[in-house]
Amino acid sequence: MATPHTSFRDSVDRMFLHAASLSKLPPGLIEKIRVCNSTYTVRFGVRLRGAIHTFTGYRSVHSEHMEPVKGGIRYAMSVNQDEVEALAALMTYKCALVEVPFGGSKGGLRINPRDWDEDELERITRRFTYELSRRSLISPSQNVPAPDMGTGEREMAWMADAYKRLHPDDINAKACVTGKPVTIGGIMGRVEATGRGIQYALQEFFRHPEAVKRAGLSGELSGKRIVIQGLGNVGYHAAKFLSEEDGCPIVTVVEYNGTVHNPNGLDIEALKAHIKETGGVEDFPGASFRPAGMEGLEDECDILIPAAVESVITEENAPRLKAKLIIEAANGPVTAEGDKVLNERGIVVIPDMYANAGGVTVSYFEWVKNLSQISLGRMERRYEEHRNRLLVNEIGRLSADSGLEWTMTDGFKEAYLHGADEIELVRSGLDDTMRESYMKMEEVWFGDDRVNDLRTAAYVVALRRIANVYGSLGL
Ligand code: NAD
Repeated sequence: MATPHTSFRDSVDRMFLHAASLSKLPPGLIEKIRVCNSTYTVRFGVRLRGAIHTFTGYRSVHSEHMEPVKGGIRYAMSVNQDEVEALAALMTYKCALVEVPFGGSKGGLRINPRDWDEDELERITRRFTYELSRRSLISPSQNVPAPDMGTGEREMAWMADAYKRLHPDDINAKACVTGKPVTIGGIMGRVEATGRGIQYALQEFFRHPEAVKRAGLSGELSGKRIVIQGLGNVGYHAAKFLSEEDGCPIVTVVEYNGTVHNPNGLDIEALKAHIKETGGVEDFPGASFRPAGMEGLEDECDILIPAAVESVITEENAPRLKAKLIIEAANGPVTAEGDKVLNERGIVVIPDMYANAGGVTVSYFEWVKNLSQISLGRMERRYEEHRNRLLVNEIGRLSADSGLEWTMTDGFKEAYLHGADEIELVRSGLDDTMRESYMKMEEVWFGDDRVNDLRTAAYVVALRRIANVYGSLGL
């Protein structure tokens, strides 16, 4: 956890101000961009188990230079004002970096979801939604929440339904939250999006040999050993795709109640099933176990993926990490002091605002889908197949007429004739976003001598874009 003198919010501010010091922007504008516009705290009571229980929730709006503002809702006992403000600020910078047209926001409810059963959580969530709606802190045009730690499709479905009941005449009501189940207006691929984005980010990084060299690594992504912290939504999907599709052994998984290790790689599907069944990673067959603790982050590996909570890499443990490359799947896992040590050691950090942007990117696609009231690809898919079939048939006819006897392989024909459906379009849009955004960061990283790390580069790109919007607005 962060040392007492550096809160998560301080860490984000310090990283932002370092990048801002490299710009020629007026100090007043930098300050306007840095500050959090507003944070709403709500305390509400819900009658449960025969007594009234009071809950505390937050929704912070960091910047409204673009609307709606966007950001997840977290359910955890650690939620506090400093944390939601830091996370809201990161959302502003993240959206600017990956060019999704939103301002930054974040919310949280101080609750341990494990303490309540499903019915109770539903009542609490619906009541929280009511409180947010009264202040336009959930609205398709002003503020669009999404899942984060401790929340998922289920909570988003409750929120969407509660909002719809409060605003029955709003035709865009579905777009009030993203990360909903597909059956009620969600989009294919949203659940996996942040983990998928981590995979695409790493694939892109390894397409750039100079960057790989700077990390002290060589060769391809395939075969790189990975340590991951947190096997929740983001961590599980990242670990699954990287191990199953990219051939990366996941050698260590650090969870809140223990660590498992296998130098040859853990079976992620089996481990996830084990956690579901037993509640933890202990006694997972074929792996060594260590009780709760963070020492697993220091295990031998090429890539470290913190995918749980903030402030887990500090100046205290950063000197001992063995990874050469860290990709921040979680928000804010490295403190400002920890970051300094990692930079001095030449460990490359792919920063959170880029690395975990897959979630908000696909949320953007979902929001667009909800506003347009039609699924992606529905109009074009069969038309595209029809055009492709025309071409394949014509090539067949030409080769027969000219006596060349060219034949296409069945595999090629099938792949070429297939029109893209929603999941393929989502993956294509996400891959494009991760590639393009990486290249923008790298341009600054390699192109400006004052910029030594990808995080500063990411802030520089984001800051420029936000300043341009303010400039266009006359500020
Ligand atoms: P989640 O609740 O699904 O999973 C979190 C996982 O981390 C759980 O398995 C939990 O047991 C584990 N964990 C919690 N505290 C831990 C600790 N101290 N040590 C080890 N493991 C611990 O949450 P998530 O949605 O996967 O989010 C994880 C991180 O990714 C958060 O920082 C979140 O802000 C960030 N993020 C999430 C999304 C998204 O789409 N869900 C998008 C962007 C960023």
